[in-house]
Amino acid sequence: MRLYDSVIADTKKQLKAFAPKVWSYDENKVWPDAGESELVLKRDAAYELGGSGLPAVNFTCVTTDAVLTGNQVMLYGPELREIKGDSPYARIVILRTRELGKDDEEAYKAVRNMEFVKYHVFPKGYMFRISSGDFREQVRVGKTALRRGISFRSVGFDFIRQYLKNPNILNVELIFVTDPQAPYESFKKSAKKTADITRTLTHILDGMPTDCRSCSLKPVCDEVEGMRKLHFERSGRR
Ligand code: SF4
Repeated sequence: MRLYDSVIADTKKQLKAFAPKVWSYDENKVWPDAGESELVLKRDAAYELGGSGLPAVNFTCVTTDAVLTGNQVMLYGPELREIKGDSPYARIVILRTRELGKDDEEAYKAVRNMEFVKYHVFPKGYMFRISSGDFREQVRVGKTALRRGISFRSVGFDFIRQYLKNPNILNVELIFVTDPQAPYESFKKSAKKTADITRTLTHILDGMPTDCRSCSLKPVCDEVEGMRKLHFERSGRR
């Protein structure tokens, strides 16, 4: 599964000019999870990541590239305790899975559904508002949670714990970006590209016929190495 590798390479390139803080996953330092959706009222919030119309981008990429070997959180920009008002924000996830065979139906379905993990993570005092159409993930951060020491590190660990419950996922890299100078517009383009790849993959898994001449997904296959090969292999053509 190397379909998302060009997006991953682009993202890494765009972040190269910034110095991250990096934390290896520690299951003893996971931020408490509410277990279900929790409301943080505006009056109880210290600020919003992506509030006041600021960028708030989210996307998830999957790879089988063994370059990713550990589980870690990376932060480019200020920590939650250092932020004093609404801030730009991005949360980017890179997942390494085991190698998938072309007939590995269940594993492919798992890849397709990996991004839904975000609907099963509920860090206390960290309320998401997700808008899938424009790839936004806005977060309201509670004053009480900040007083208790919430951090990107501990919230990221909560995500990693949830991802690692999926036996197809070997490693997770959770990237948070809050640096005002970061290239959020480029991230938004990457988010759209990952959504296009996942949508195409979904159609292929659903058994769509291989007629490239009349296929509306052709621009994606022209751009993403391996997509056309995957469809033809799965449909038994060469
Ligand atoms: S391989 Fe051809 S038919 Fe299949 S999704 Fe790509 S463009 Fe469409």
